[in-house]
Amino acid sequence: MSTVKGTEKIVNPLQESALNKKGLCDYVINVASGCLHGCSFCYVPSTPAIRTKQAQLLRKGVSNPQMDWGQYLFVREDIPEQLEKKLSRKKTWRETDAGRGVVLLCSGTDPYQNKQTASVTRVAVEILSKYNKRVRILTRGLLWVNDFDVLNQSNVIVGMSLPHLDDELSRKIEPQAPPPTKRYQALLKGSQAGCRLYVAVAPTHPTMNLDDFKRHLEKIMHVNPEVIFWEPINARGTNGKRMIAAGLNFASAIMTKSSWVKCFIRQWEQIELAAKEMGCEDRLHIWPDPELRGYVEDAKLEKWLYQPTVEKWESLATSQGQKKTTQAISKKS
Ligand code: SF4
Repeated sequence: MSTVKGTEKIVNPLQESALNKKGLCDYVINVASGCLHGCSFCYVPSTPAIRTKQAQLLRKGVSNPQMDWGQYLFVREDIPEQLEKKLSRKKTWRETDAGRGVVLLCSGTDPYQNKQTASVTRVAVEILSKYNKRVRILTRGLLWVNDFDVLNQSNVIVGMSLPHLDDELSRKIEPQAPPPTKRYQALLKGSQAGCRLYVAVAPTHPTMNLDDFKRHLEKIMHVNPEVIFWEPINARGTNGKRMIAAGLNFASAIMTKSSWVKCFIRQWEQIELAAKEMGCEDRLHIWPDPELRGYVEDAKLEKWLYQPTVEKWESLATSQGQKKTTQAISKKS
């Protein structure tokens, strides 16, 4: 399929999110549906956000939203206008222990994948900042380095997914995303500019070992991230098929539940050991999968599910007439 691009309307730009489970946010804004980075492991196309839109996507020329992931992008250009409306009327603000009232851009697409999404993202951050909201950017794109004037502030943190620094392997795993060495350079620039930063060492492929993690964490510490998230590749939905189709033979090593669990547990031990040796144990934040229940001690899982990060946020000033709704989330999967 040749790439299909367009725009789409959205009714509610600001969605409550369950990603407080990972210590990421309480709200999410997705500036588009689809993602041109087309990462082979991405499980967004298997989520309801895409699965419930099959008919709509078909009308727009996308016949197989799962296998054609990476070949379509519909940007929500009206997000700034809708967000301003929404925030000006919003009476409450959700703030859980682990989500901290943060708004994440984005969970189902990349906010800085091209100029069009970057421009929507930039204005969305400006609006959120005007309403004193905490903002988390998560991207594999490089264009955020043009937005330091908006991003370099105390209640905005920028993170890049950087599972490794192997550009050649990345061309197979994340075929249309900028090479990891370029992402690393962008992080160094952000660090020099004084931006608050974090890194998602995610998702790591099954052939990475203790030495790989040590070398990688050593490099990452040069950008002085506040937190380093980690998770391995999780085989979910159609991503196993897409990884095999991309010639990633290692995918077969994590296609069954038992092999995936084995790999997860091994890399979890290794990244913790590597972080200890590299002196960044306090910044490491594990993203365990609730599917590990029964294979990993409950206490080990509970430690990380709904765990707040070590990041420091400024107090969340609420707009006039807006109430904060705090939710003490019990630790559960
Ligand atoms: S950048 Fe993120 S949303 Fe886009 S394909 Fe990759 S993992 Fe999926």
